[in-house]
Amino acid sequence: MKKICLLGATGSIGQNTIDIVSQFPEQFAIAALSSHSSIEQLFQLARKVRPQAAAFSGDAVAEHWLQEFRELGVRLLIGPDALVQLVAEVEYDVLVNAVVGAAGLRPTLAAIRSGRTIALANKETLVCAGELVMALAEKHGVSVIPIDSEHSALWQCLVGESRDTVRRLILTASGGPFLDLPKSELAGVTVEQALKHPNWSMGAKITIDSSTLMNKGLEVIEAYWLFGIEPERISVVIHPQSIIHSMVEFIDGSIKAQMGLPDMRVPIQYALTYPDRLPNTLPGMDFVKYGTLTFFEPDFDKFRALKLAFDALESLGTAPAVLNAANEEAVNAFLQRHIRYDRIAHVVEMALNEYEHHEVSDLESVLTADAWARRFVLEARDSLT
Ligand code: NAD
Ligand code: MG
Repeated sequence: MKKICLLGATGSIGQNTIDIVSQFPEQFAIAALSSHSSIEQLFQLARKVRPQAAAFSGDAVAEHWLQEFRELGVRLLIGPDALVQLVAEVEYDVLVNAVVGAAGLRPTLAAIRSGRTIALANKETLVCAGELVMALAEKHGVSVIPIDSEHSALWQCLVGESRDTVRRLILTASGGPFLDLPKSELAGVTVEQALKHPNWSMGAKITIDSSTLMNKGLEVIEAYWLFGIEPERISVVIHPQSIIHSMVEFIDGSIKAQMGLPDMRVPIQYALTYPDRLPNTLPGMDFVKYGTLTFFEPDFDKFRALKLAFDALESLGTAPAVLNAANEEAVNAFLQRHIRYDRIAHVVEMALNEYEHHEVSDLESVLTADAWARRFVLEARDSLT
């Protein structure tokens, strides 16, 4: 029986994780849950899965909830440090980190320090501090197993292979809802249009990132840290059907692809069962129904965010942390209708150019760069519209 500490339980990956856990009651149990957005939803989930403890890191909690959790027999931790405390104090085997944004970093580091396996959906952890996270994981002998579908695909393609035999990692990208929209029309994109992803149903932030291709850029950086492959050997191909989740090309010219219907429950389950597999009841894929799988070169000029991410990976140091934090704030500003859609990449680029970048020596240097970038975007926001 694997006990799971699930951070970001009320989100899209969180809910899919609970779905998978409930399909395998003999193999998995939820030991702890967290939420930032809704204490009520956290309580409903706690009533359903009966964890030992739950953490709420959002706004102030009304008094009666303390009583409700007490009566349920679930320990409730609250406040900004609740996730780190949860991760360090509860008894579990695997951390599933399904938090959105750089807020996932400190709990990930705390779980690695306590020797727990990490199943990581929270790509921002690796983007902003990949160097620190992977070094700490190595020091503690901890595995960081990806949940992100592209990285799960790469991970599966690499089972049984030596890293020395890899020529290239090929990440696929759906291209998002604006694949065919002329660049000149990006300025007029509305929040509603950007929130409609063609193939995946996900949280708001990653849905916007998928539409700007920043998500693919973050994933390139994530792949670099997870697999230790140089940036020039990581490429992106647009594949609108999202059936091939990513590919590895080997030195003999052979290419392995991992495929399936776009359903995050598959990579979540694999991260929990790795290196084994378990039979499930998810729908299988009908190749004939799809008929054609297509592939295109990404347009780096139109999808500026993807280019910025490749550049940040080239520079490393504080650049990826600034890219990530500026993007989080820019996406937020767009969702709150403070800035235009095409300003997202623009303000991220401004932040990258403005910061005096340096090496990442410790957590403090990452947090300082992150905080600077957030302030920068908030201050630049009103002059941008
Ligand atoms: P979501 O917005 O649906 O859920 C986010 C969860 O994190 C919620 O439980 C929320 O309460 C919590 N949260 C939000 N802000 C927080 C904060 N400041 N501190 C602590 N907790 C906070 O997001 P999602 O779509 O489930 O994505 C979660 C992560 O997984 C992201 O990093 C995303 O890039 C990654 N991911 C998601 C998908 C997907 O299909 N949704 C696929 C691949 C990777
Ligand atoms: Mg992905």
